Parts: sequence; C-alpha cells; structure tokens
Amino acid sequence: MSKELIRLRGCTMAFDGDVVLNNIDLNIRDKEFLTLLGPSGCGKTTTLRIIGGFTVPTSGDVFFDGVRINDLPPHKRNVNTVFQKYALFTHLDVFENIAFGLRQMRPKLTKDEISRRVFEMLEIVSLRGFENRDVSRLSGGQQQRVAIARALVPRPRVLLLDEPLGALDLRLRKDMQNELKRIQQAMDITFIYVTHDQEEALAMSDSVVVMDGGEILQIGRPEDIYNEPENAFVADFIGESNIVDGVMISDGTVEIFGRRFECLDRGFSPSEPVDVVIRPEDVDIVPLRDGMLTGTVTNIIFKGVHYDIIVDFKGFKWLIQTTDMSPVGGRIGIKIDPDGIHVMPKSRYSGMFGDYSSYSAEYDEISDVAAEAETGDAREE
Ligand code: ATP
Repeated sequence: MSKELIRLRGCTMAFDGDVVLNNIDLNIRDKEFLTLLGPSGCGKTTTLRIIGGFTVPTSGDVFFDGVRINDLPPHKRNVNTVFQKYALFTHLDVFENIAFGLRQMRPKLTKDEISRRVFEMLEIVSLRGFENRDVSRLSGGQQQRVAIARALVPRPRVLLLDEPLGALDLRLRKDMQNELKRIQQAMDITFIYVTHDQEEALAMSDSVVVMDGGEILQIGRPEDIYNEPENAFVADFIGESNIVDGVMISDGTVEIFGRRFECLDRGFSPSEPVDVVIRPEDVDIVPLRDGMLTGTVTNIIFKGVHYDIIVDFKGFKWLIQTTDMSPVGGRIGIKIDPDGIHVMPKSRYSGMFGDYSSYSAEYDEISDVAAEAETGDAREE
C-alpha cells in the first residue's frame, strides 16, 4: 500500500456560523483514486476546495506530504483542478489550450520541451491528431479531455475533479469513467474525485468516502462500502437495499419479523435492536412451503437482465431482483443465505430508508396483511 500524501485533521468549515463541514478527518494515499460521494450540499466540494487551497478551513489542519499547508495558496500546492464547467480558451486551438500553463512556467521551458509535453498529454488523453482543432468544434467529451490534459500537463501530484462528467450524456459518461481510470494509472498520480453518482464512484475508485450533512460516514474500498455499509444511510445511498428492523439474538443469529435468520455478523449485545440490510439480488424465491418468509407480489417491472419485483411482507415492501417471473398478486416464499444478511447498529438514519412502498403505490390495494387474512397463512405471526 502506498504512503499517505494528504491528511485533513479535524477540519471544520462554517459560513456565517453555519457549519457545513463538521470536524472531518481524512487520509489520502499517494497514487490512489479517491472519491468523495454524497448528496447535494453534503460538503464534497468544500472538502475539495480545502485540499486545493481555495478555501481555508475555519478550524483544523491540512497536511501535504507531512507538511502543514493551511496557508499555502493554490498555485503553490502540487495540485491542479478540473471543474465541471471546464472553461477552455475558445480563441486558442487544442495545442495552445494545453500549452497555456507551460508557457507561464519560470524558468521558461524551451519550445521543444513544450511541444514534447503537449504531445505526450495528447497521447494520454487520446487526442493525438486534434492538436490544431478549434476547441469550440470539439464534442463535449473531447473538450473534457482537453481540460484534463491542460490540468495534467504541469505534472501535479494530485488532480482534483469536481463532477467533471456532469455535463455529458450517460453513454459518454460511462466511456469517460473508463478513460479517467486509465489516465490516472498512466499518470501514476492521485485523483480526488467528487460525485453524487454512486455507480460512478464504485466503478472508478480505490477508496470511496461517503458523506452526509458535513460529516464522513464511511471510508472504504467500493466492495466494502457495498457489502458492509456502516449505517442505513450508506446502505441506501450505495445501491438498492431493503432495510428492516431486527433484533440480534446472539452471534450469528438475527431475528426479523419474528423469525430467526442465520447471519455472519458478530459482536453485538444479546437482544440488541439492529438494522438489517438485505440486497435485492441476495433474496431467492422458493416454493411457499420452503419460504423463511412468505409475502405477496405487488408489482413487477421487466429490467432486461432481471425483474424488479416488489413483495409485501406484513405491510413492509421489499425489492427483489430475480430472473424468475412472479405474477402480481401471487404468494411467494423467500430464502436468504447467511452471507446475504448484513447487520448494522441502529443510527440516526434508522427507519428512514429501505422500504419500497413508494415503488408500488398504484398496487397498494394488495396488502400482505389482507392476503394473510384471506389465506389464513400464519407463517410470520
Ligand atoms: P453539490 O453536489 O450540490 O455541489 P456539495 O456536497 O459539493 O454539493 P458543498 O458545495 O460543499 O456541497 O456545500 C456544502 C454546503 O455549504 C451547502 O449547504 C452550501 O450551500 C454551503 N456553502 C458552500 N459554499 C458556501 C459559501 N461560499 N458561502 C455560504 N455557504 C456555502
């Protein structure tokens, strides 16, 4: 694992007494692709601006390579930024846009050195042959590549990217995600990326930092954040999640809807109330008699690779992703393997997420409680 490059220690930011970043600690490793992820207003851009030197934190310290840099202005930090609005110089061609920063360097670079470095960047961002093009005649994706090349050509140790793909259409965004990862690896430097798009964060990052309300809720590898969310907010923000109330009976056993399920979680107190996450793809549909729980299908949507079905378990609606067709109104059983259950401590987010009732509002008349009354099914009683 590479060594630490940037450290934020106890950073708080307040505007007119309004705290928008609350005492955050963050360590960023050299050469990693780290993403700040969270909903609008959670403090991602403020964090990025503190690292870039555009904003000085109200309190707390910023270290770069072990040196405190709170008072160092942006142009003296070994950091460059790509914004969503990439503001290219429209009167200059591609070559001159990329060369611009190099021409300001002191001591002056030779013409040959500038040319060599611009062509090296054109190669890295796959724009070789575009050097004499007018930037206004480029597509959005090509303009974004010029902006990235322009930010990278001075060879910063860190590139900050604030929602750089926000203006691109979905297809182009996906292509550029792969490109950005490739460029980061080719340059062998640190990328710090801001987005509210969880798919983007999972696809590109070595580390994901999930933020809400000016706080860091979880830091981890994409797999860890997805498989082991620390609270209901993270579980809901990253992918789809059914989140239900449970009680931890003992290590490896949790009770949901009055039934006991085997799980892999340990270390909770006996009878501790918990939140239980069950991902839609981890639920198997089985014949009614084999079901650990039984419920009523209230909605089904064909998604191509699978169906999204909404199932009512005693008035709580779950999303299940399955390749099996189950008709609306039908009763089904479900089975969940121990590794498909993830137990989390209760938090201030408990009860706020993970019920798919709104998904199937038009089918509300089919309630599981009513179905049970009809069939006399007492499985979950
Ligand atoms: P978005 O995805 O919408 O850009 P964000 O997570 O990047 O959101 P920030 O831009 O960091 O959020 O803003 C966090 C909060 O701080 C917001 O409530 C914002 O209105 C507030 N804020 C940011 N900059 C200023 C400022 N210069 N003056 C006053 N309030 C500010």
